[in-house]
Amino acid sequence: MALSFSCSFTSFPRHQVRANPKSNKCLDNVRSLVRTVAIPSVTSSPLESLQKGNWVKLICGASFEDVVDIRNLSLVYTLAGVDCIDCAADEAVVSAVNDGIEAAKEIVGLRRPWVMVSVNDDEDLHFRKAEFDPEDCPLDCSRPCEVVCPASAIALKEGNSSAEVSLGNSTSGVLKGGVITERCYGCGRCFPVCPYDKIRAVAYKRDTTATAELITRNDVDALEIHTSGRQTSLFKELWDGLGDSISYLRLVAVSLPNTGDSTISSMNTMYSIMQPKLRCFNLWQLDGRPMSGDIGRGATRESIAFAVQLAAVKDKPPGFLQLAGGTNVHTVDGLKKMGLFRMTSITNNSNDERMTATSPSSLHALVGGIAYGGYARKIVGRVLRSLQSQHGVARIEDYPDHLLEALREALALVGTAKC
Ligand code: SF4
Ligand code: SF4
Repeated sequence: MALSFSCSFTSFPRHQVRANPKSNKCLDNVRSLVRTVAIPSVTSSPLESLQKGNWVKLICGASFEDVVDIRNLSLVYTLAGVDCIDCAADEAVVSAVNDGIEAAKEIVGLRRPWVMVSVNDDEDLHFRKAEFDPEDCPLDCSRPCEVVCPASAIALKEGNSSAEVSLGNSTSGVLKGGVITERCYGCGRCFPVCPYDKIRAVAYKRDTTATAELITRNDVDALEIHTSGRQTSLFKELWDGLGDSISYLRLVAVSLPNTGDSTISSMNTMYSIMQPKLRCFNLWQLDGRPMSGDIGRGATRESIAFAVQLAAVKDKPPGFLQLAGGTNVHTVDGLKKMGLFRMTSITNNSNDERMTATSPSSLHALVGGIAYGGYARKIVGRVLRSLQSQHGVARIEDYPDHLLEALREALALVGTAKC
């Protein structure tokens, strides 16, 4: 059977995709589940979700570039009703996200989530890859790096030494494989577990010119700038380098860590840098405990504490607030306990002359919503791994039982914020 893909990205290994011709009829259970749950965001816009405080963003990962997983994750979470899908600022990755969204819309008529690309202004944990030479590893290593990796991004097996093979010598066993670069998202969990200190982090910065071109695509809606907030000159350099491409966006997000007392002043500085060219909405992503949502219940505390801290500040710059970093299925409960979930109020900036069409309306939620990364990928990733082990590289909609299982997982998370 010939397969047709609506996107043009090149890295999806199409020749390996196996389709199940009976799948279309079996998708009725998926359609029925989406209609039964009736998630509000299926019909309401991402902007309305931000204003109401039930915006949900899926973070594919600023460095995660496995287009097969990204396409299937995007499909599942579009059906689950997310408002935005945040991905690496890479053409093939953006195409994979949009292909997943279009495939979801073909199954059930629903509105399209915004597509956001993430970049950095300086070294940042989200923009690095693990690297090591497996042939340097002792053959008898118990390979804790493989076990600890949450992205299944390290794969090792015994093989023959490349050097000895090229010399035609009889070969001795070595480890082969190593880090699967496109799956590594830089979480860093493998670094401390290596007993021989073999793993290093390779940091990188997204190219500003390529980003400026990418955000002019009509299937990219939003940009996120990761910054430490400590060196606003680097933020300005990136912002200026993006030039007029900013005018193509619906939303600009700034993702920043909690730097205590200096957080608000750096937010104000960054807002004043952005303001002259800002013609769209803006959002502050409060990165509590980066890349840790899959670890456990407690991981979400720091992002909630960050939101509590900022919600109380009077002189913060305009823009929606959104949690990230450690967010998981317990985050909404934590926000409810702090009286911050879907708590609408007259914004403290209502008399601020900076409140213009580019800012949220004066009546909006104190916290606009939540972004889920590692936790969201983990719960659906289990199904994707099972799909892959049974059927190889596959489109999840071709296997409706897997899609139904993945969708139930996704709804259990997205539903905490939406329902
Ligand atoms: S940094 Fe994280 S994602 Fe990358 S290989 Fe190590 S454990 Fe896996
Ligand atoms: S734990 Fe370290 S030495 Fe062992 S296989 Fe992994 S990278 Fe190599």
